[in-house]
Amino acid sequence: MTDYCASHELLTLPQALAVVRHVVEPIMEEEDCSCGRALGRVLRRPFTAPVDLPLFDQAAMDGYALRRSDITSEPPYRLRVVGTVRAGQVWKTPLQPGECVRIFTGAALPESADSVVMQEHVERDGEDIVLANATRSYDHIRRAGEDIARGADLFRMPKLLRAIDVSLLAASGVERVPVTRQLRIACMTTGDELAVPGRPLPPGKIYDSNRPLLRGLLTQPAYRVTDLGNVGDDRERLREVLRKATGDHDVIVTTGGASHGDYDLMPPLLAELGEIYFWQIAVKPGKPLLFGRIGKTYVFALPGNPLAVMVAMHHIVIPALRRLCDLPIEPPLQLAATSLDRLKKSPGRLEFQQGVLSWQDDGYIVRSAGGQGSHQLGSASRANAYIVLPAECRGIAPGETVIVEPFCAFETV
Ligand code: AMP
Ligand code: MG
Repeated sequence: MTDYCASHELLTLPQALAVVRHVVEPIMEEEDCSCGRALGRVLRRPFTAPVDLPLFDQAAMDGYALRRSDITSEPPYRLRVVGTVRAGQVWKTPLQPGECVRIFTGAALPESADSVVMQEHVERDGEDIVLANATRSYDHIRRAGEDIARGADLFRMPKLLRAIDVSLLAASGVERVPVTRQLRIACMTTGDELAVPGRPLPPGKIYDSNRPLLRGLLTQPAYRVTDLGNVGDDRERLREVLRKATGDHDVIVTTGGASHGDYDLMPPLLAELGEIYFWQIAVKPGKPLLFGRIGKTYVFALPGNPLAVMVAMHHIVIPALRRLCDLPIEPPLQLAATSLDRLKKSPGRLEFQQGVLSWQDDGYIVRSAGGQGSHQLGSASRANAYIVLPAECRGIAPGETVIVEPFCAFETV
């Protein structure tokens, strides 16, 4: 085996992630973004709440706004309804003793009112309401600033903005936010055997399924992806494309040609053009993963088999992209599930098998999604979770508990 790295040992996944954490430096440049386009973007600088939330004291229920001092003696209590205020309106005159105002959820609390009684707890008697007892809660009020006080930090930084976060920005009246600029990612496939769907398929060729896989996994608002197509297995051409792409991309992701066969050009090219941080990890599928750098551009050369690509993307590349956005690299969500199937596994590498996770009676169960070859897209397409088998595992018997990672945990926004 040609050696392009100092170490002969295969890195474990945690070791590989430690290298990623160590060498990848977060991008500092920001750009101004309208909140309408901020979903999935990353906020890095503390963002101060410009207003109290709620903005003012308001009714939390449909009912009557009153003065607590009017209901301190013995029940029943009779109060005069002097008007109505609904959401969006303001009741201008302060309440006088013995008065109340019909109020609806979200309406500003009238001046000098300090309680709201639910309409269900009140009897209406002409112009009056009658409260039968004083033991009910009279405090259906949302206090100004009880959720977020003006001047407080709106988010814990750094923050990947989800729908609810953009909603919070809108609730605060914010229209534009400074976000980390989009990561510029170039992706390409290598392999002379690849053809494009929709065109005739020459004998012996296969369709390029990694390009849509990469593009699909990288379709995120925080990324701007350039698809450089299939570059083939020509060393000169690959060198040229890589060189060019380094100029204006933060990251290059390639598939194929990352192993040590005669046509595996990525390891020698990366060694020639830049530096290699690691090559080959103790993970199945996805062992021949190469991570390095050309100039300022990080390069991930993934193996060619589609499921190796998916595993490497989920467990190494996307964590690295998160690091570039200054987001923490965290282990994916894992659950325990009972395996209904016998699962074959030889000891040596951490293995991600394709599983179908579901709920039965009182717990999660998982079945194998089918053949586990790293080319078996059919199994992967049926799967909704990885079954994670530790390196030393020698197989699983039906009924044993296994760790699973639901695919939904990899969806970032
Ligand atoms: P390689 O890592 O280049 O040796 O490729 C390993 C296997 O993955 C071979 O069977 C390739 O034909 C296949 N492969 C490589 N690239 C792609 C691709 N873009 N789409 C589908 N299969 C691929
Ligand atoms: Mg190849």
